[in-house]
Amino acid sequence: MDTTSQAGRSAPHGGSRSFACRFCAAPLATTFVDLGMSPLCQTHIRPDQLHEMEPFYPLHAYVCERCFLVQLQEFVTPGEIFSEYAYFSSYSTSWVEHARRYAQAMSERFALDRGSKVMEIASNDGYLLQHFVARGVPVLGIEPAANVARAAIAKGVPTTVRFFGRDSAAAIAAEHGHPDLLLGNNVLAHVPDINDFVAGMKILLAPHGAITMEFPHLARLIAENQFDTIYHEHFSYLSLVTVERIFARHGLTLFDVEELPTHGGSLRIYGRHAQHAALAVTDRLAALRRREVDDGFETLDRYRGFDEQVKRTKRKLLSFLIDAKNRGQKIVGYGAPGKGNTLLNYCGIGTDFLDFTVDANPYKQGKYTPGTRIPILAPEAIRAARPDYVLILPWNLQDEISQQAAYIREWGGRFVVPIPEVRVL
Ligand SMILES: [Zn+2]
Repeated sequence: MDTTSQAGRSAPHGGSRSFACRFCAAPLATTFVDLGMSPLCQTHIRPDQLHEMEPFYPLHAYVCERCFLVQLQEFVTPGEIFSEYAYFSSYSTSWVEHARRYAQAMSERFALDRGSKVMEIASNDGYLLQHFVARGVPVLGIEPAANVARAAIAKGVPTTVRFFGRDSAAAIAAEHGHPDLLLGNNVLAHVPDINDFVAGMKILLAPHGAITMEFPHLARLIAENQFDTIYHEHFSYLSLVTVERIFARHGLTLFDVEELPTHGGSLRIYGRHAQHAALAVTDRLAALRRREVDDGFETLDRYRGFDEQVKRTKRKLLSFLIDAKNRGQKIVGYGAPGKGNTLLNYCGIGTDFLDFTVDANPYKQGKYTPGTRIPILAPEAIRAARPDYVLILPWNLQDEISQQAAYIREWGGRFVVPIPEVRVL
C-alpha cells in the first residue's frame, strides 16, 4: 500500500511534504516529543465498529526554531473532528463552577450590563454563557458542533453554528455587532490556522473591547510532565511569549495575564486592540513574560530533554501496573478524556491492565476507547466490580473524582494518578 499518498490525501492543510510552522512558516525540524502513532481522541468506538480498522496518525510534536511555538502537524480537518463533538462541558461540575466565577469577575471588571454584548468562541453547550444570561447580559455563542450548539440553545443561550476565522468574524459582526467581551476557553490551542483565528478576533472585537482566552500553559506541561495533554485535536502548545508574538502580529496587545489551576495549569490572557491604551498593561504580565524569558522559553535548550523525561514516566507507570497485575489485583479506569487516549495508546495500556473505564457522559457510555478498545461504562460499574485500583485518567479532576467515588474505600480500593508520575492516593 502506498502510505505516502495516503498521508497526503488525509493532510489537506499541509502534509508531510511541507511541514512548516503554523504561525511563522519556518520549516519544523526539532522534536519536542514523539508519542508514536495514535488515533483521534474523540472517535469513541461503537460496538458495531469493533471489527473494523481505525486510522492512526503520528503524534509527534515539534518546536519551531524561530518563534518557539510547540505544535503538531495537522492530519485531519476541524470539520472531521468538531462537527459532532462528544465533549459536553456541563458534565464537569468543577468546570461549570469555574465558568460561574469567571462571569462574575468579568462582569465586575468590565462593567458589563444589559447594554453590553459578550461572545464566546467554541461556546460548547452554553456552560459559560448561561452565567451571563442569568446576569441579564446579552450573549452570542459561536460553536462549530451542531449537536452541542442545540444543547446550548435549549438552555436559552443564543448560538450560531460555525467555525471561527476571518470570514465568519465579518459575517457575525454584520449580523450581531461587535462584542465588548470576546472570549474563548481551550480553543486557541485547538485551531489549525491560528493566524486566521486571531485575525478574526481582531475583526470582531469592539474598539474598546477586551478579549480573554484560556489555554494550558506550556511551562506547566513541561514542568509537570503533562505529555498526555498532547493529542491530534490540540494543535498548539502555548507559552506567554509566543502567544504575545502571535497577537501582536495581528494588531492585538496583551494587557494582563492570570495563572489558573484549571487543566493542570492554564493561562488566562487579556487582549485588546493595540490602539486602545486605556486598558493599561499590568505588572503581572511583565513579570510572567520576564520569568519565561529567564527560564529559557526563547531558546531551543528549554524544549530538548522533554522526550526522554516522557519515556521515563511511561516506564514508571508500566512498572506499577505490571506489578499490580502480577499480584493478582483488579484495576479499572475513571474517565475517557482526550488525554486518557494519549496516555493509554502511548503506554500500550489496554484491557490487559484495565478491565474497563467509566465516564459520566452518556454519549461515551457503551462505546470503547479509541485504539486501546477499553469498554466505557457508567460510573456505577465501579461499585459492582470492587477494583483494587482506580486509575484516574483526567488527573486534573482528581479531587472531584476521588470525592465522587470515595466509596471505593469501603472495600479497600485506592485511587491512582498517572501524572506527573504514577502515585497512589
Ligand atoms: Zn514558528
